[in-house]
Amino acid sequence: MIGFQYSRASSVADAVSQMAASPGAKFLAGGSNLVDLMKMHVERPLKLIDVSRLPLDKVEETAGGGLRIGALVRNTDLAYHPLVERRYPMLSSAILAGASQQLRNMASIGGNLVQRTRCSYFYDITTACNKRNPGSGCAAIDGHNRMNAILGTSEACIAVHPSDMCVALAVLEAKVHVTSPGGERAIALADFHRLPGDTPQRDTNLDPGGLITAIELPPQGFPANYTYLKIRDRLSYAFALVSVAAGLELDGGTVREARFALGGVAHKPWRKAEAEAALTGQRADEAAFGRAADIVLREAKGFGHNTFKIDLARRVIVRALSQAARGTPQLQSNKIA
Ligand SMILES: Cc1cc2nc3c(=O)[nH]c(=O)nc-3n(C[C@H](O)[C@H](O)[C@H](O)COP(=O)(O)OP(=O)(O)OC[C@H]3O[C@@H](n4cnc5c(N)ncnc54)[C@H](O)[C@@H]3O)c2cc1C
Ligand code: SF4
Repeated sequence: MIGFQYSRASSVADAVSQMAASPGAKFLAGGSNLVDLMKMHVERPLKLIDVSRLPLDKVEETAGGGLRIGALVRNTDLAYHPLVERRYPMLSSAILAGASQQLRNMASIGGNLVQRTRCSYFYDITTACNKRNPGSGCAAIDGHNRMNAILGTSEACIAVHPSDMCVALAVLEAKVHVTSPGGERAIALADFHRLPGDTPQRDTNLDPGGLITAIELPPQGFPANYTYLKIRDRLSYAFALVSVAAGLELDGGTVREARFALGGVAHKPWRKAEAEAALTGQRADEAAFGRAADIVLREAKGFGHNTFKIDLARRVIVRALSQAARGTPQLQSNKIA
């Protein structure tokens, strides 16, 4: 047994000040990732500051026509929220493609953003892992790396960020609201997760001791032409090999605006502005989608077991954009009718 302290935060300010006073502490929300990591001795917080009962569980419309989603809204509640289903169905689909119903009932939005990689060596404390133990090496580079990254990798780490929700948030250009000892700020989703570089132990640009309080969605939700397509080893309860969130604005058969992001391929949701811009003004067809995919993947690099992801990603991009163009998004297969 490894001992740790536990306390419950009474307010956002209390959570942040407890964290500032307790080096080595961690916030606890749904616990669906953190508690597993503690059981496996990957995370060893000296104290858990339970934020799960803070009043951050509302979904509210913003004055600008978007949505503000409290960090403690449960994944299930967000996916089935009527405003999200109607205006941001890509987000509903992405959330429902993740984990299982029971896990989604526990998992919070804030915890989903900060969940850690599923690289199997990260979870195995007998192996070298720069993310878990900086400077120890990376067992995945020459190891079993089928689930690992093909874009944005470094010599120190080839892990992927595992969230489905964040891939849709990248396309929707969400902002993450954070309160930390220095005050409040909003971080663009694109800048929230980091590439591994030579500091793979840092997954995000969250301020030290920072508490995520909300996610804000701009008004544009691509409700007519969207998809979230996740390719995985089983139809449920499996992380993405490759996923694509896509949103299109069309004028007849011509692309007015295209956005798409990949999951399962990098240390953060992967968008490429050049590939999206290349679709503007083009006919919404497989040829154009294939050219955009080639732009994204020209920097891709495989590591042996995961090299198949490069070809898979190309096909998933083309299929996801084609589905979005037809207005026939992926069925929400996990949804209970
Ligand atoms: C078997 C299994 C399968 C899964 N499959 C998928 C999948 O297919 N797709 C997918 O996307 N996810 C999947 N998940 C991951 C799941 O979505 C996450 O575990 C969950 O979203 C984490 O939320 P939580 O509230 O339980 O976080 P916790 O476990 O409580 O916390 C996770 C991390 O976030 C930090 N944290 C929590 N809240 C805040 C906050 N407000 N501010 C700052 N830091 C915070 C914690 O300190 C901790 O470091 C799976 C999980 C399991 C166990
Ligand atoms: S890929 Fe990253 S998480 Fe996986 S073993 Fe290497 S350093 Fe660790």
